[in-house]
Amino acid sequence: MSALTDLTLAEARAGLDKREYSAVELTRAHIAAVEAARPLNAVVAETFDRALAGAAASDQRLGAGEAGLLEGVPLGIKDLFCTEGVRSQACSHILDGFKPTYESTVTRKLWAAGALMIGKTNMDEFAMGSSNMTSHEGPAINPWRRSGDNRQLVPGGSSGGSAAAVAARLCLGATGTDTGGSIRQPAAFCGLVGLKPTYGRCSRWGIIAFASSLDQAGPLTRTVRDAALMLRAMAGHDAKDSTSVDTPVPDYAAALGQGVKGMRIGIPAEYRVDGMPDEIEALWRKGADWLKAAGAEPVEITLPHTKYALPTYYIVAPAEASSNLARYDGVRYGLRLKGEDLRDMYAKTRAAGFGQEVRRRVLIGTYVLSAGYYDAYYLQAQKVRSVIARDFKQAFESVDLVLTPTAPSAAFAIGEKMDDPIAMYLNDVFTVPASLAGLPAISVPAGLSADGLPLGLHLIGKPFDEETVLRAAETLEEAAAFRAKPAWLEDGGAP
Ligand code: GLN
Repeated sequence: MSALTDLTLAEARAGLDKREYSAVELTRAHIAAVEAARPLNAVVAETFDRALAGAAASDQRLGAGEAGLLEGVPLGIKDLFCTEGVRSQACSHILDGFKPTYESTVTRKLWAAGALMIGKTNMDEFAMGSSNMTSHEGPAINPWRRSGDNRQLVPGGSSGGSAAAVAARLCLGATGTDTGGSIRQPAAFCGLVGLKPTYGRCSRWGIIAFASSLDQAGPLTRTVRDAALMLRAMAGHDAKDSTSVDTPVPDYAAALGQGVKGMRIGIPAEYRVDGMPDEIEALWRKGADWLKAAGAEPVEITLPHTKYALPTYYIVAPAEASSNLARYDGVRYGLRLKGEDLRDMYAKTRAAGFGQEVRRRVLIGTYVLSAGYYDAYYLQAQKVRSVIARDFKQAFESVDLVLTPTAPSAAFAIGEKMDDPIAMYLNDVFTVPASLAGLPAISVPAGLSADGLPLGLHLIGKPFDEETVLRAAETLEEAAAFRAKPAWLEDGGAP
């Protein structure tokens, strides 16, 4: 690892402006890091030539004084963002060989801001998972290890490859998507900042759909400031996505540095779940104390329907997924198996093309949408969803933000929880409610577990109030002063 890969995105950007190094040098340093870290399986398609060509163009713009917000910055792009001419498979077998002829709005905006794509990152198949274990490309590996234990750990999911890549210093930031926690939980597992914006803040156009009423794109970075910079470039109204909201994109970085004085921070009683490890509870208290010391006022609040969030999510998300995934029929995209007739071709292609978790979701989703069960499950879940959203609305009448832990545990070992889907789904217990309510939320690295793994704190904000979320996140970041790195990075070795 070279010093260039250890810069934050904001530092790298400032160094480029001062011409301390070129965008080509910065890109080469990250390419070398990706090559050295291939055992992590974080990157499923390397796009080095394209990154270098882009870097040369960035150097010209930097020289001409025409640099964009993210000029010359190498990023990882989750494999479910459609990138023109480059593999975009959501790490599913059924999309084998799919190279879109168009660019997703979010990535198009990133390239317009001068950012460079170093590669497509590994993920749970169609973003269904919390461990990156459901990827058709095999698991991505967390760059962190427990102290004194060399077992490989999951990076979380579904944006596991993006998180592993940023934590291992393979890129300065990465895109993720979050349907129920897929940016925030991997950020927590890998010691990163992960921001899920308000539903509607970033366009979903060109992002391979999982559950359309929940999916949102957002950044994974090593600092809060970097997340603010990336979000500015990613966000904005898009006529091609009717759920993207036409409201101006603020200069998020400009909102930083203002602290939390006078803010009221809600601490929801219902997030004290059974079996939560003491160290997570202790970190949560510490987070409240940090905000208090910075001039905010923590207040106990109640979000009474929290316990219904997870079962509601696991009806709504599979229902939408079963509908979205109906398009993969072997005719238009990727994989096709031969069949005796059209129906047989559909069935064989879908059986071979979808992994076990995706098939489980399609089955659950089709069931809850079926004629006899629609009212009992899907409609009921929609009603509960609006009650959960109302809980937050009421809470936000008296507080500015809600503070919770990000996940109920630190990263677990590869293979753990795989035989128990419910245990896997419990990973999302703290992240899913904000997804159902469409609210912005961030995970900030806040400390280490007893065995030396990163733990995250989670802030949930009011709709389109990412600025307040980022401000308070920065206060937590400063107080936690999280400087730890995976041991092999400290030693300058390889993963
Ligand atoms: N882990 C959750 C799931 O499996 C959330 C995934 C996501 O946010 N994409 O559905």
